[in-house]
Amino acid sequence: MLLPKFDFHEPKTVNEACQILAEYGAKARILAGGTDLMVNMKKKILSPQQLVSISRIPELKNLEASADHIRIGACFTVADLCESDAIQRHLSALAEGAKNLGTPLIRNLATIGGNIGSARPAADLPPPLMAYGAQAVLSSLSGERTVPLDQFFLGPGFTAMKPDEILTEIQVPALPASSGAGYINIGVRKAQDCNLVNVASFIALDAGGIIQNARIVMGCVGPIPLRARSAEKILIGQKPDTALFTRAGAAAGSDSTPIDDFRGTAAYKKDMVGVLTRRTLDIAFHKATHRQ
Ligand SMILES: Cc1cc2nc3c(=O)[nH]c(=O)nc-3n(C[C@H](O)[C@H](O)[C@H](O)COP(=O)(O)OP(=O)(O)OC[C@H]3O[C@@H](n4cnc5c(N)ncnc54)[C@H](O)[C@@H]3O)c2cc1C
Repeated sequence: MLLPKFDFHEPKTVNEACQILAEYGAKARILAGGTDLMVNMKKKILSPQQLVSISRIPELKNLEASADHIRIGACFTVADLCESDAIQRHLSALAEGAKNLGTPLIRNLATIGGNIGSARPAADLPPPLMAYGAQAVLSSLSGERTVPLDQFFLGPGFTAMKPDEILTEIQVPALPASSGAGYINIGVRKAQDCNLVNVASFIALDAGGIIQNARIVMGCVGPIPLRARSAEKILIGQKPDTALFTRAGAAAGSDSTPIDDFRGTAAYKKDMVGVLTRRTLDIAFHKATHRQ
């Protein structure tokens, strides 16, 4: 399969990239690792006339951990996420998502920005990032704006990004004390296959061990990664235990809106949402009570 014809741009700064995007608008497309875009171009699903490679912009590859935030550059690769001490220590659920994404070859090329930018409902990184309360930082010639990932995904392949904007970094707020998150995905096969269901859960406990805040995010069971709002309501204000997590799992299953497809029936996926929610809450609780 041949690629359609395109002009290739290789800016060295974000500003230069923004100028190219401002000039060509919807005719241009950003190229990061290319593991999603190249496949779509070969299949002729997308045929951008202008490709803007951002892999030579050094500032997009940074990772910074401060007292307030962890800031991850859009071109930080999935392999980098797997290997980063800071990610494993502070954002272990994101590290887990990264470890489960594709194969070593894919992980070496694939970027965090591309995983978010492709807006696939089954992607591995959006659920843990949303569970941690992450925000996307978008830049254009008009300036910078921040969009919570909760509001970023609009549908399969569609996001709140405008054609002249570039996703420059993901900001994750520093975790409160006594908080933690878990992530689990299941697929029909182990590698190289789309997830069947994936869930990330986050909980924060108060000084008395009561759940103060909870976020549960489910992938593959709707057009975008979905928050399990009724499950979160069940958790907040309660003391964590297995019975509570099982009730939250059942509520998350009801919050999900899967469809029957060749990977599994909607009923099976709802059941799996329940199981993965309970298990990721167990992990989150363990992390919240064992963090140093
Ligand atoms: C064999 C195979 C296995 C895979 N397995 C998995 C898997 O297990 N889990 C999973 O989640 N995904 C999987 N993928 C999909 C893909 O590898 C990931 O989504 C990857 O993270 C995409 O990143 P990328 O840098 O390659 O993005 P690209 O392909 O470069 O870009 C993807 C999209 O995002 C846009 N984009 C990229 N960066 C930016 C930016 N900074 N600002 C604005 N827009 C941007 C591009 O314009 C494009 O529309 C797989 C793909 C293949 C081919």
